[in-house]
Amino acid sequence: MLMLCLMLIASVLVPLSHANASSNFKDVGDTHRANAEITYLVDRGIANGVSRTHFVPSKQVTRAEAAAMLGRALGVNGDRKATRFSDVGGGNMASGYIEELVKKGIISGYPDGTFGPNKVLNRGEMAILINRAFNFGGTSVSSAARNLMDRGIAQGYPDGSFGADAKIIRADFSVFMARSINPDFRVKTDGISFSTTMYVNTGSDTLNLRKGPGTTHASISSLKNGTAVGVASTSGGWSHIKVNGVIGYVSTAYLSVSKPGSVAPSTPPKGASDLTVIIDPGHGAHDPGGVGNGFQEKNVVLNVGRHMKSYFDKTPITAKMTRNSDVFVTLGDRAKFASRNGGDIFVSLHTNALNGSANGQETFYYAKTAATNPNVKQSRALAIYLQARMQETWNLRNRGVNPFGYGNFAVLRNNTVPAALIEMGFIDSATDIQYIKLESQRERMGKALFLATLDYFYHYEGRSDVLPYYNDVNASPSRKLH
Ligand SMILES: [Zn+2]
Repeated sequence: MLMLCLMLIASVLVPLSHANASSNFKDVGDTHRANAEITYLVDRGIANGVSRTHFVPSKQVTRAEAAAMLGRALGVNGDRKATRFSDVGGGNMASGYIEELVKKGIISGYPDGTFGPNKVLNRGEMAILINRAFNFGGTSVSSAARNLMDRGIAQGYPDGSFGADAKIIRADFSVFMARSINPDFRVKTDGISFSTTMYVNTGSDTLNLRKGPGTTHASISSLKNGTAVGVASTSGGWSHIKVNGVIGYVSTAYLSVSKPGSVAPSTPPKGASDLTVIIDPGHGAHDPGGVGNGFQEKNVVLNVGRHMKSYFDKTPITAKMTRNSDVFVTLGDRAKFASRNGGDIFVSLHTNALNGSANGQETFYYAKTAATNPNVKQSRALAIYLQARMQETWNLRNRGVNPFGYGNFAVLRNNTVPAALIEMGFIDSATDIQYIKLESQRERMGKALFLATLDYFYHYEGRSDVLPYYNDVNASPSRKLH
């Protein structure tokens, strides 16, 4: 109902430019963070594209442009006219708006009698203009900024500042304007408590804060590793968070309870404490993977992954899992996980299925030299050691490494570290299930995969500092196989 009233007012006061109306701008797609707000303003004739096809959301806003948009939003008469300013002639497209807004006390010029129509506005000036135009009451930059943040109109930066000195761009200006005009666009926080503190844990990478729970939603900003966030709720692998006044969604996989790197070791690190192994249990949530004999792949591989991790947890080597519960993680996010978390190698865990007609173990690596992942030799060695330890542990048929030429899987192809994918057995095979079904055998498989990664580090990387971790579990390095 409110929308309808505003549309009626807008169409009475503002002649709609249908050449520009509605947003088919090539540079403001459906997932652009300011798409809804820009569409709203353009449809009402308050904002225009720079051309019929482009809005140029990242372009900075001049004082003349700001005056024109504010003037249209307030419905003032924008007919061009002479102004009191020496640098704004009657032919300037914004002259009418500038003169009318000066009369209303919303905008002002400089003591030397100029207006500076081509000067770029910063966020602080913008906050004051909007306060005056919409009677929010703020007179200083800080009070005006606080008024906008309190109303859910503007948000600070994730670093806690308002960014008053930053030049304002058309996308942000459009967001401010749409929210000022129509409260439906404002960020609503009533009744939601973002009370659980967690930390961004991405290694050296940044984490996208998105408008909605999923990678199809536009990114609002990038959060640095270690940033503290308030979590309201978590669902389907996404957390609803607030960070320095900004509300959005982040992938839960990149949040941790403790601040990364904040725990000072009580003893100096020893051995291979610089190594990080990424364990990737396949599938999850609505994607069960292969099923058979009453078992689901997603549960089997998570269980094996946890056993594998528990072995690393007894060493200084860090092990991180792409998922540690029954959640869905996209293949793209799995592939990026290693680089985001400072991973050194990536091991993806799967079971196979083929209508009960096949059995055995196989391991894949991406063997194309043109791969996104340049670590072909390393990945091959990792795959060889994984396959050997799997064979040693479960007495199943050896289907070999890369039985179909090369392992064309997204998690391998798009990875950035040595990566391999194991199929530890066929979940729908009467033979293989004799191992898969037993917790004790899955525990042994977790240990085998742990030892295989040590074999890789020892033989391929020449890391003799992993030797003590074999001894700790009464094992020893494999033969050199690669
Ligand atoms: Zn699978």
